[in-house]
Amino acid sequence: MKTIFDKIISGEIPCDEVFSDDKCLAFKDITPQAPTHILIIPRKRIPSLNQIKKEDQVLLGHLLLKAREIANSCGLESWRTVINTGEEAGQTVFHLHIHIIGGRKLNWPPG
Ligand code: AMP
Repeated sequence: MKTIFDKIISGEIPCDEVFSDDKCLAFKDITPQAPTHILIIPRKRIPSLNQIKKEDQVLLGHLLLKAREIANSCGLESWRTVINTGEEAGQTVFHLHIHIIGGRKLNWPPG
């Protein structure tokens, strides 16, 4: 099923882009939970971590490496990555995404 993030990838819906390459796209979260709140998503349609396959291994590593580059380029030394998987875990958009959150003190454990 086409999600809002597919529409962002195709350009149907605008986004505040931070980074883009042939495998992924990163943009600012529309409802930021911290001074820096960026989402990095694969261009490939993968609904969640529940659907990842062995063939996605390199892509998943790429997303994490880009997350680090993006966080560092935003001047973050301390930052959090979040991947919500499934409705009860808080996933609302069923296109795999990594939240990059930072710029304030982050509490643990999360709610
Ligand atoms: P999750 O709850 O983990 O599925 O995260 C989905 C995130 O997508 C939320 O933090 C939303 O604020 C964010 N979001 C939804 N629509 C957009 C959009 N059009 N542009 C940017 N971020 C969005």
